[in-house]
Amino acid sequence: MVRAPSLVVVGSVGLDTVETPSARRADQLGGSASYACAAAAFFAPAGMVGVVGADFPARFTAHFRRMGVDLAGLRRAPGKTFRWSGVYERDMNRRRTLSTELNVFADFSPEMPAAYRSAPFLFLANIAPSLQMRVLDQMAAPRFVMADTMDLWIETARPELMRLIRRVDLLTVNESEACHLTGKTSLVAAASELLRRGPRYIIVKKGEHGSLLMGPDGLFLVPAFPLETVRDPTGAGDTFAGALMGRLAAARRVSEKEIRRAMVYGSVVASFGVEEFSLTRLLRLTLAEIEARRDSLSRMCRLP
Ligand code: AMP
Repeated sequence: MVRAPSLVVVGSVGLDTVETPSARRADQLGGSASYACAAAAFFAPAGMVGVVGADFPARFTAHFRRMGVDLAGLRRAPGKTFRWSGVYERDMNRRRTLSTELNVFADFSPEMPAAYRSAPFLFLANIAPSLQMRVLDQMAAPRFVMADTMDLWIETARPELMRLIRRVDLLTVNESEACHLTGKTSLVAAASELLRRGPRYIIVKKGEHGSLLMGPDGLFLVPAFPLETVRDPTGAGDTFAGALMGRLAAARRVSEKEIRRAMVYGSVVASFGVEEFSLTRLLRLTLAEIEARRDSLSRMCRLP
């Protein structure tokens, strides 16, 4: 019998090869759903929907279990695991994707465990919009749906993406994606344009410059926690979004005020994630550390 998670996350689960100015790491645990579930699990029971190949190391599955992620929706299929590689410039806000191999994700058609279908919270993390839609179609009546995407899908699957956007409550994209999607050059103009496409809320992620929420109550800004050293920014957006959805699921109700609160947790958990490569820092992170950094960020932001 599968336990009903309050949050379901679909997205990529894979092996990343990442090069930063300080190091290169091959075949480390990555994927949007991996980061998002790991972050969400600090706050609420999260179930992962995705697929890995026969080459996916058992120790990575053990990492998810240790973090309390429910894996009833994670399939193992014959073939190769999703792989992505990217390189960061000295200014780590700038990243180039070197390759994306969908592998087992190319023809993955998720069949959701029955217990997942009634989950109140759904996060459609970055993966093909057609796949995100298939998961959304299988949900009974989710109370709150958030979606994320990436330049690859904006370029190759724009019509499906625009159809999906109409059906979500919150769309989160990064700065360049917001402009790419809308053709606008100002962030605020891009967010306003996206609001007209369906979602009630838009969050634009701005890397080390934090994030911006636009909703019925207007604009809200959350800074990124300032760090002396960032080792690997990969997955920061997914970690931010996962923690945000985990917090919302834990709060049970959704209001703009709760979303604002949850964004602060998103920012804090993401700031831990980038301190080390892959999910290494998240694996030994504690709630006490999260709360302490949240308090510290809150003190930094108090305007005189
Ligand atoms: P972020 O740094 O938040 O953009 O997320 C990076 C993560 O997304 C990496 O762990 C990759 O494995 C994963 N990823 C990269 N490209 C894609 C894609 N086109 N679809 C799904 N996941 C991807």
